[in-house]
Amino acid sequence: MAQIFSGIQPSGELHIGNYLGAVKNWVQLQTQYPGAIYCIVDYHALTGPYDPQALRRRTHEMAVSLLAAGLDPAQCTLYVQSTVPEHTELAWIFNTITPVGELERQTQYKDKASRQESVLAGILNYPVLQAADILLYHADAVPVGEDQVQHLELSREISRKWNARFAPEDAPYFPEPKALLTPTRRIMGLDGSAKMSKSMGNTVGLLEDSDSVWQKLRPAVTDPARVRKTDPGTPEVCNIYHLHKAFSPAPVVAEVAEKCSTAAWGCIECKKVLFQHMEAELVPIRRRAAELREAPERVHEALAAGTARCRDVAQRTMREVKDAMGMMTS
Ligand code: SF4
Repeated sequence: MAQIFSGIQPSGELHIGNYLGAVKNWVQLQTQYPGAIYCIVDYHALTGPYDPQALRRRTHEMAVSLLAAGLDPAQCTLYVQSTVPEHTELAWIFNTITPVGELERQTQYKDKASRQESVLAGILNYPVLQAADILLYHADAVPVGEDQVQHLELSREISRKWNARFAPEDAPYFPEPKALLTPTRRIMGLDGSAKMSKSMGNTVGLLEDSDSVWQKLRPAVTDPARVRKTDPGTPEVCNIYHLHKAFSPAPVVAEVAEKCSTAAWGCIECKKVLFQHMEAELVPIRRRAAELREAPERVHEALAAGTARCRDVAQRTMREVKDAMGMMTS
């Protein structure tokens, strides 16, 4: 059985873009791969601007969102990265075998560095910490979106380098983690112009109330060819159609495609149907989140149990790694 690992930044409440793009898949994978490990990666969050008080609150809110969305501590492990300090210990070790040139070639690094006057070392070394996150638990399958595939390839490279230097040739110590590509395609923002993201202000919060969701959905951008109700559209170019694919049953998705391309209905009718199906999925999530906010000790208990499980594994890994590298283990 593959060991799954995946992480998410503590950005506070989830929005439907990261719910559909990652977390909904995590919920399914926890039954398929018992013992899947999911991590709120607060060490990674330190590489961007942040407010310390907000970080703590956002970390808790992210845990609430993940548990409300369906992560079940009886089936998977959920914890906060910095409560297992072995992540940074292994990252340091991996830094010593990773060429700077490989890090500078990473598309995400080039993109972030091009927008900053002074580039933090943490941004350059971000994928080394990711490799440590994954390999600390010997994870061999990592659910990721397309944009993380290059970083995962670097994790595989780091694993190969460490094994070549410190493990017997016929018994590699670290696995080469493979990507489990998330099935839902990237969700665009409601303005239709960019990926859904908080910084773009084009999101729908996973825990937003019904009125607010509809107020955002109503004016959302659709196929620009549908100027009049009688103009036929092309569902594939419309973000609302892709949201139907994520929330509505298959017969409804087929009906949307047919009625859109034949101009049998207008975009508002189409959005009303989408809203109903979103509500069917999101109302129980909102209810669970409200219960968790009323009982924060349940969230703390789930995270503490996750930390305890992960520290056991992480400490064993570090003992074995340090032993293989000729370092003191106590
Ligand atoms: S009918 Fe629906 S799928 Fe077609 S353009 Fe309008 S909102 Fe999009």
